[in-house]
Amino acid sequence: MGKAIIPYGKQDITEKDIQAVVKTLTAEYLTQGPKILEFEKQFASYIGSKYAVAVANGTAALHLCTLALDVKTGDKVITTPITFAASANCVRYCDGEVVFGDIDPHTYLLDINSVKRILETAPKGTFKGIIPVDFAGRAINMEEFKELAAEYGLWIIEDACHAPGGFFKDSNGIKQNCGNGSFADLAIFSFHPVKHIACGEGGMITTNDEELYHKLLKLRTHGIVKNSDNYENSVEFAGGINNEYPGWYMEMQDLGYNYRLTDFQAALGLSQLERAEKGLLERRRIAGVYNQAFESKDYINGQSGAIDGHAYHLYIIETPDRIGLYNYLREKKVFAQIHYIPCHLMPYYRGLGWAEGDAPAAEKYYRECISLPMYPTLTEAEQSYVIEKIDEFYSL
Ligand SMILES: *Cc1c(COP(=O)(O)O)cnc(C)c1O
Repeated sequence: MGKAIIPYGKQDITEKDIQAVVKTLTAEYLTQGPKILEFEKQFASYIGSKYAVAVANGTAALHLCTLALDVKTGDKVITTPITFAASANCVRYCDGEVVFGDIDPHTYLLDINSVKRILETAPKGTFKGIIPVDFAGRAINMEEFKELAAEYGLWIIEDACHAPGGFFKDSNGIKQNCGNGSFADLAIFSFHPVKHIACGEGGMITTNDEELYHKLLKLRTHGIVKNSDNYENSVEFAGGINNEYPGWYMEMQDLGYNYRLTDFQAALGLSQLERAEKGLLERRRIAGVYNQAFESKDYINGQSGAIDGHAYHLYIIETPDRIGLYNYLREKKVFAQIHYIPCHLMPYYRGLGWAEGDAPAAEKYYRECISLPMYPTLTEAEQSYVIEKIDEFYSL
């Protein structure tokens, strides 16, 4: 026990996953084949959205979203400082301006009141959008954000990378899955190996908006259109006859990118998706064990807790002497991690004018947070070992 490293998160690849990939490798298409559409359909059905667009990774998904929503130079967009940098960076890719709100110290999610305060500082129309994050797997109340967004004419991109399968209950008591498109214009997911579903690299955008869906498809492939109904150049120019475009013809209508997923990655994603619900239940079970273990501990200043609908990408505790605990656990081969260093205090964003004190709750959280091992294949023995080592550290 304690010899092999216990990481904070880990992918699970089964023999079935391997066979699914191998089969695709010898099929006709390595990319742009049938597995992509199948993955998109299955994923949309799992999440409960109308449409899904598979892309190269979660960051590409975010970039396509800001492009599709037409973010332009100077457009102000609000997000949380406690997230992976890509949630904010996608605004910068389009030369927009990132405005960081603060977190709710109990949920660790973007505090809607901090967003309201920001919105009230300027005339309506100053801000263009909000990017709330289902941080750690906890579903943010999108209904409240939608109401606020409607009042100010803002769009919403929900960063649901941590929360496939997570949900909150809306004001009518109805379960609303993260990224289901009921409230946000667009939602994004990542299939990086530490996330719930692994493709190696991969991402997905979900939406209920047909127009945005078609925009995303176009932007994902260079801005190229291959449907003659939508062509802008004339048949004559194209070199066609009898009022028909020639077979080779296509048009690049917008500045797009190559943000496609490959078929073998989609095959892996599909195979993983079949086990997603099982993995989610396992994460919730593991969280339950942590919750119970830490319930009465005086070294706990805060924790992920027992929350309905939590997808538990991360299990976080807040605790004193965090650096001591981190180093002690590493010595014992438990590789806990910190999520996240506040984004606004990364040197890049400091360079844009952000400073300490701009998001006090996020900064306080950062000083004490630590993410414990959380993944479906974490064994009972491994988890007991982790809990035992934490107890040991605080009783030294
Ligand atoms: C992982 C992650 C991303 C980026 O996804 P990649 O697939 O790694 O590009 C974006 N936002 C959050 C919250 C993430 O955790």
